[in-house]
Amino acid sequence: MKNVLVTGAGGFIGHHLVKYLVAKGYKVRGADIKMPEYEATAAHEFLQVDLRLHDACQAATAGMDEVYHLAADMGGIGFISGSHAEITLNNTLISAHMAKAAHDAKVGKFLFSSSACVYPQHLQTSPDVTPLHEDVAWPAQPEEGYGLEKIYMEKLCQYMHEDWGISTRSVRFHNVYGWLGTYDGGREKVPAAICRKVALCPDGGEIEVWGDGLQTRSFMYIDDCVEGLFRLMQSDYTAPLNLGTDEMISINDLVAITSRIAGKTIRMRHDLTKPQGVRGRNSDNSRIREVLGWEPSIRIREGLAPTYKWISDELAAHAEAKPTAVAAE
Ligand code: NAD
Repeated sequence: MKNVLVTGAGGFIGHHLVKYLVAKGYKVRGADIKMPEYEATAAHEFLQVDLRLHDACQAATAGMDEVYHLAADMGGIGFISGSHAEITLNNTLISAHMAKAAHDAKVGKFLFSSSACVYPQHLQTSPDVTPLHEDVAWPAQPEEGYGLEKIYMEKLCQYMHEDWGISTRSVRFHNVYGWLGTYDGGREKVPAAICRKVALCPDGGEIEVWGDGLQTRSFMYIDDCVEGLFRLMQSDYTAPLNLGTDEMISINDLVAITSRIAGKTIRMRHDLTKPQGVRGRNSDNSRIREVLGWEPSIRIREGLAPTYKWISDELAAHAEAKPTAVAAE
């Protein structure tokens, strides 16, 4: 039985990946600075550690055959565009120490979770953007801070493979969403934020949308995400690879689909002062089809229904848990 480490196992993708790998029969160690928020971990062992510290990375990688490195300081566009120093410093420390520890522990395979944020900003200026092919990432002009560390780490993975013989993977996620993902507090991403706003809004009411809502993205449901991670790890492909759907929709479409799922009529109030990220982004899936003979296929309507239901149930449960005011006698 292989020993596998998942960093970021207290987070959204890491938690789902741990469950998936345990079900496949792997012996899984999770590592994260926090425990999973919404459900107990399925990991056989869980280290609650700060991976910015090299000693913690050494303890996490000891005895491991494979590493899925997902831990990162991250969040939605509001957090990413407002915390460049914190994100860049934290993620550089985490990833560099994880790379060194994986080398010292003689780990066979090391997967790094990169992002579509590595792609040049100037190629994403229009809502009907050309899907982003892996080869256009260089010459680089990534997202400030967050994307910069991701593209640097992709290069480090390439050098680790070339110089140290570690079989590395760099996976460029495109907007992952699903149940058990953060839905409030400022670090939530757009599908979760829209689900929360729609769930809290009465039928016929209005929600705030960041930007004019014409900005476009593609979104990948969590089940496709963990399946793709596993398939990539089993392959022998070491160069960066997109992992996302190529079903591009606008944020206004996302609101409309969510409202239909909720059975509500919702009006939008666009706040043009809020960050909206790049104007358009979509995944070019020609390479993943070629390399894995597979690509994410869950349509946004299919994935949003269980996501909306989970978020709306969570909000209802928390509203019930709040003590109600007792009238004074
Ligand atoms: P997440 O925030 O839910 O999970 C990241 C985890 O890393 C968190 O549990 C956090 O506690 C942990 N972490 C942060 N700092 C740490 C530290 N110092 N020590 C130990 N653990 C620490 O995010 P996610 O959506 O599950 O993302 C997982 C990975 O995928 C990240 O590397 C992220 O950058 C990447 N990614 C995600 C998306 C997406 O749409 N979710 C898109 C592109 C890339």
